Amino acid sequence: MASNGDNSRMVTATFRFYEELNDFLAPKQRKQEFTVPCARAATTKHMIEALGVPHTEVELILVNGESVDFSRPLQDGDRVAVYPRFEAMDVTPLLRVRDRPLRATRFVADAHLGGLAHMLRMLGFDTLYDNYYQDDVIVALAEQEGRIVLTRDRELLKRRAVTHGCYVHALKSEQQLREIFERLDLARSARPFTRCLHCNAPLRPVAKASVLERLPPRVQAHYDRFSTCDVCSRVYWEGSHWRNMKQVLDGLLSNAQQPGADNSS
Ligand SMILES: [Zn+2]
Repeated sequence: MASNGDNSRMVTATFRFYEELNDFLAPKQRKQEFTVPCARAATTKHMIEALGVPHTEVELILVNGESVDFSRPLQDGDRVAVYPRFEAMDVTPLLRVRDRPLRATRFVADAHLGGLAHMLRMLGFDTLYDNYYQDDVIVALAEQEGRIVLTRDRELLKRRAVTHGCYVHALKSEQQLREIFERLDLARSARPFTRCLHCNAPLRPVAKASVLERLPPRVQAHYDRFSTCDVCSRVYWEGSHWRNMKQVLDGLLSNAQQPGADNSS
């Protein structure tokens, strides 16, 4: 902890946050410039998180019009603009605050996001989830296995060890899925029905004959394609669950092909 007993060492900086980052701010600070005191040693990251925005949500920081990283110390009179990830604007010439995306898109979801985790698995994304995960376990899994943390707990995303995370704004799992798909541009990497919904293990196609005696009569009569999980031995087929999810996915894919087509709600 830096000593902050000497008030003459305080500096003030002016902040403006853009787009959904405003959701994290106190109401009076949203969608406008505001000036706040900062300790002299404070970096952009310290102040952005002190104002309520987890570092994982930030993609670009401009100080006095120049792109900087999280370690930039704030100086008196600095004007700081903070942006989330954006699709529409080309920021490649600017410095991004994070080196590069993780190699594979893998997730660990917190205990409140079971519905979202289930849908991500259904779409083939490696997603760890357990009702009993404590925050420390989530952070360790993210760090050791290069997983993106999904949560509605902003304090969790402020942990230093969490380099990649998504604060999930929506409350309903289908909207949460849409939000994550748009933010991470996932539509093209979805591999629906390739992963076990219960244990997150990859599914393997199997011949109908080899699972026939485990199928209810109605399924025996109506379906021909099956896959199985080698961990829990469950058998999957393209039933009503599959059709519902296919509809959701088709919606996400058609949205991805027409950017900006539906930004309502
Ligand atoms: Zn399984």
